[in-house]
Amino acid sequence: MSDTIFHKIIRREIPADIVHEDEHVIAFRDIAPQAPVHVLFVPKTDIATLNDVKPDQAEIIGRLAVAAANYAKTQGFAEDGYRIVMNCNDHGGQTVFQIHLHLLAGAQLGHFGT
Ligand code: 5GP
Repeated sequence: MSDTIFHKIIRREIPADIVHEDEHVIAFRDIAPQAPVHVLFVPKTDIATLNDVKPDQAEIIGRLAVAAANYAKTQGFAEDGYRIVMNCNDHGGQTVFQIHLHLLAGAQLGHFGT
């Protein structure tokens, strides 16, 4: 297993505010939230970036998105809406090299770009 900060959270070596866990996915609150709700959905399979997802691993990305949507529904903000984001490499702003989906919600989010 790789050794990013997220792997340490998966292995319970460092604390996190975990809001969901199943066989494939763990989700916990971002330590530096960019919105009232900011949760990270991380697969338990080692994959550094979106570029590294193999064709037979496509379902892993789907599981992250479905887990995020289910969290939005159970928390009651699915109808109001939310944003999911996956950063990739330097220009995308990726800082932790274990793929993860950001779920941002709880406010009217602005449009974004450069
Ligand atoms: P990235 O920039 O790679 O897309 O996102 C990494 C995210 O991980 C950032 O939003 C950052 O705030 C969050 N993060 C970094 N270290 C920790 C940590 O130790 N615990 C938690 N919960 N989040 C972290």
